[in-house]
Amino acid sequence: MNTELLNKFEALPTPFYYYDMELLNETLDFAKREADKYNFHLHYAVKANFNEPILKCISEKGFGADCVSGREVETAVKSGFKPSEVVFAGVGKSDAEINAALDLNIFCFNCESVQEIEVINELAAAKGKTAQTALRINPNVNANTHKYITTGLSENKFGINMWELDDVLEVLKKSDHIELIGLHFHIGSQITDLTSFKNLTSKINTIQQWFYSRQIIVKVINAGGGLGIDYHSPDGQIPDFAEYFRIFNEFLELRPEQEVHFELGRSLVGQCGSLISKVLYIKNGLKKNFAILDAGMTELIRPMLYSAHHELENISSSSSEIIKYDVVGPICESTDCFAKDLELPQTVRGDLFRIKSAGAYGEVMVSDYNLKTLYPAQYS
Ligand SMILES: *Cc1c(COP(=O)(O)O)cnc(C)c1O
Repeated sequence: MNTELLNKFEALPTPFYYYDMELLNETLDFAKREADKYNFHLHYAVKANFNEPILKCISEKGFGADCVSGREVETAVKSGFKPSEVVFAGVGKSDAEINAALDLNIFCFNCESVQEIEVINELAAAKGKTAQTALRINPNVNANTHKYITTGLSENKFGINMWELDDVLEVLKKSDHIELIGLHFHIGSQITDLTSFKNLTSKINTIQQWFYSRQIIVKVINAGGGLGIDYHSPDGQIPDFAEYFRIFNEFLELRPEQEVHFELGRSLVGQCGSLISKVLYIKNGLKKNFAILDAGMTELIRPMLYSAHHELENISSSSSEIIKYDVVGPICESTDCFAKDLELPQTVRGDLFRIKSAGAYGEVMVSDYNLKTLYPAQYS
């Protein structure tokens, strides 16, 4: 039983997302403080959570934004992020999205293919503008994370491969409306083994040598995001930004005029969010007990999509009897299950559950499948 949360939530219709704004503030302040030690620039990856109060809170702290669509760019700017601190990545930017970002004069397009450079050059020329761009390079570094969220291997669709760089330089020479300002890398998400980042720094150093030897020194090195969080012990947890930034500071070889940028999503917002859901029914099967919640994969799809683990807490029960349950949602799919054979205090209809670490890639992936109702988010 968690009396504090129970009192707060008891009267509210479920399911809904709940955001602990104190934890968010603490997390943002710590990340910023550690990054400031080295003059590193932080962009928040909007796709992790675009809930408006969250975006406002992050923009007010002076973060830039990392966007992957035109609407994300527009949403970020509306929420207070300065266009001059917005970067725009993604393998499939449409002409309309590029035009909208050009109109807003964003800081940088992170280009992911030769053809994209040509298209941005044409669209910028039509507007009489010059687009600042970084090349997203696929560094072929293994992030040692789930295969669905690895992005920096040569078999992934993301980025420009090393063997294409000669062609890229040829195209850049002919592209008068493109200014190359940076190199960009993003190797994946939920990376908890920090040696992956150390490996990334040594790849970046090698790639920079390739550019130096062709008399190209870019101003911006953007190391992407991907720092993971601890889904197994989430309470009050703040990721180790100190060690993360220290690795880049120690191992990246930079020229004095170069800036280092990061794009963090999950590590900033993951732990501050929970999904609150009510037990609708307890069903006793032949070998199993099912606790059926009023939230399912339509409200939080990570367990079903990536086999992700989320800690579950029954905040209502004070029973000392421990029973195993499969905790499932109401959606008409057998995969709609949050946890199997989970030991919980005896659970009854009406109990409230908190599904933890749901602040990143949770609410943003909500879908209308089955047309269930999600109630407005609550904030501490
Ligand atoms: C998703 C994404 C990020 C953020 O990843 P996290 O794992 O949430 O930190 C950063 N950069 C790019 C290009 C992305 O696509």
